[in-house]
Amino acid sequence: MNFSSKLLENAVAEFAKLPGVGQKTALRLVLHLLNQDKQEVERFSGAISKLRNEIQFCSVCHNISDLSICEICASNKRDRSLICVVEDTRDVMAIENTNQYNGVYHVLGGLISPMDGIGPSDLQVDTLVERLKTNEAKEIIFALSATMEGDTTLFYLHKRVKSFNITISTIARGIAFGGELEYVDEITLGRSITTRVPYENSLTK
Ligand SMILES: [Zn+2]
Repeated sequence: MNFSSKLLENAVAEFAKLPGVGQKTALRLVLHLLNQDKQEVERFSGAISKLRNEIQFCSVCHNISDLSICEICASNKRDRSLICVVEDTRDVMAIENTNQYNGVYHVLGGLISPMDGIGPSDLQVDTLVERLKTNEAKEIIFALSATMEGDTTLFYLHKRVKSFNITISTIARGIAFGGELEYVDEITLGRSITTRVPYENSLTK
C-alpha cells in the first residue's frame, strides 16, 4: 500500500497488528478516526492507554480487575465453597452471562501447551493449590475447553488437587468454550454448569 502520509502509514500499521485486522480494514478504521472530533479520538486513545496502565489482576482469582481484589471475590453474595477453574477472563464473562453460577473463579491465564512451550509454572496452578489449602472450598469445577490443551491441563490439575477432600467436577465437555465462547449460547453453557459431572465420569465419555 502506498501512503500519502507517514503519519497515516504508521497508524494503519498499528491497527493492522490487531488480530483479525488486515491492511484494508486498518485503513478504513484510521480514516474513520480522522473524521471524528479530536476530543472523540482523545477519548479513544485515552481509554486504551488507561486500560493498559491501570488494569490489575485480582490477587485471589487472577481475573482482570480494576482493583486488587475483583468484584466477584469481594462480593459477600458469592459462594466461596465453589471454585470454577477457567482459562481466561473471557470464560468468566461467558459464565457470568449465564446467571447460573454463584461461586467464585480461578483464572489460570492459559492452558498447558508443550507445543507452545507453556508449562504449569507459566499458569496460576500453584496459587490454586494454595487456595485449596487455606480456602473453605468444598467443590472445584473445571470449565476448560475440550481441546488437547484443555485435556492436558485438566489431567495435570486433577493430579494436583485430588488429594484434597473436595468434590471435583467438570462441565459437560465437548461444548465450544474458551476462545470459542462467542459461539456458545448462554443456555447451553448455563446448563453445562448446573449439570456438571464428577471428574471421574468425564473420563469415560
Ligand atoms: Zn477475584
